[in-house]
Amino acid sequence: MSDDCIFCKIIEGDVPSYKVYEDENVYAFLDAEPVSKGHTLVIPKEHVDDIHGAADMDYMWEPLVKVSNAVKDAFGAEGVNIAQNNGEKAGQEVFHLHFHVTPIYEGDELDITYNRSSLESGDSVAEEISEQL
Ligand code: AMP
Ligand code: ZN
Repeated sequence: MSDDCIFCKIIEGDVPSYKVYEDENVYAFLDAEPVSKGHTLVIPKEHVDDIHGAADMDYMWEPLVKVSNAVKDAFGAEGVNIAQNNGEKAGQEVFHLHFHVTPIYEGDELDITYNRSSLESGDSVAEEISEQL
């Protein structure tokens, strides 16, 4: 629990939310500004700022898949995006780890923009990352 964290307050029931799922470790609720109908946030009850503090949170996976299935089936979505932002520069606004589960419906335009390039120096880039593991 972090005193100034809005998602901790939601877990505690001090700030209202539309609950979708809850178990011992995980809470899921509707995003207040949904990208599409059913946009749900899945969060650990333990406060960590982002994915970098989540090495021991294996328990996130099963609820995340369950909620994704439910979000997809509830209103007949064609697909589901899972998004997860870490750091202000990456678009994170709430610093309590969360997974966005966002359904995509027939006729929706996918609105995710990345500037792609061709992979260069794959060997050394992969090696640099591997060395950090
Ligand atoms: P991010 O930019 O990845 O940190 O996403 C934060 C998300 O939290 C945004 O999609 C917000 O709409 C959502 N959000 C912030 N406050 C609340 C709240 N009180 N209840 C539900 N969703 C919230
Ligand atoms: Zn928190």
